[in-house]
Amino acid sequence: MTTHDGIASALAVALARRSGSHADCPLFDDPYAQVFIDAAVSRGCQLPTDETAARINGIANYASSRTKWFDEYFIAAGAHGLEQMVIMAAGLDARAWRLPWVSGTTVFEIDQPGVLKFKNEVMREHGESPAVSRYVAVPADLFDGWPEALRARGFDSSEPTAWAVEGLLPYVADGPHLLFDRIHAMSPPGSRLAVEAVGTGVVDWLTEQGWLVTTIGAPELMTRYGRCGDHSEADASMDTTFVDATRGR
Ligand code: SAM
Repeated sequence: MTTHDGIASALAVALARRSGSHADCPLFDDPYAQVFIDAAVSRGCQLPTDETAARINGIANYASSRTKWFDEYFIAAGAHGLEQMVIMAAGLDARAWRLPWVSGTTVFEIDQPGVLKFKNEVMREHGESPAVSRYVAVPADLFDGWPEALRARGFDSSEPTAWAVEGLLPYVADGPHLLFDRIHAMSPPGSRLAVEAVGTGVVDWLTEQGWLVTTIGAPELMTRYGRCGDHSEADASMDTTFVDATRGR
């Protein structure tokens, strides 16, 4: 994936978060989604075509529920004493800026160099500072070399960590991926992992490795949040499972 593709895919999610923020009774507030969209347009990025825009609108309830679920995951991880967070392929996710983090928290964000550069330039231009004690951008390739890059920027693999794998369905669609092997190897007991997944492969694998796993399917989650969705959302996103795992041994 090129940087341009990376920004385009991250921008598509930002568009969904903008819709979610502007909805009646929003599940979250992400003012930065609009900031990123404006900045991308002013730098010559094309917003998605009608067809893609319609697809993004068509999964608005799903996308809002997903954002809310990962927000709650990180807030709960902080409340349980975890201070080291890693957001894989963070894209234009602005949680490091907008969540009420516990003092002492470090958030590492991994993504392509160009995506993180764009994001951090835009935030600086708008005078926005992360809401965490320490924010660390880790430009790295999720296929290669990211554990070394993470450690080089101060990640402590002896400290329990909360990881998030959101918006990466192609990585997790075929079951456990090397990505999870590496996360597992860097996760002492007490670490947590949140995954937007399809199928049961990731759940089975994590359970075999000693993680205690709870799951909720997309339809049930959306019902819980009062976002039951319509038939346009009954496609691929309805097969998604949200996985919250804690390493027990
Ligand atoms: N997780 C974010 C969210 O939900 O808003 C972004 C999701 S976006 C669909 C996918 C992200 O994955 C992009 O920011 C892209 O740059 C990143 N990505 C894709 N392949 C990557 C790779 N090999 N290494 C690092 N990041 C990658």
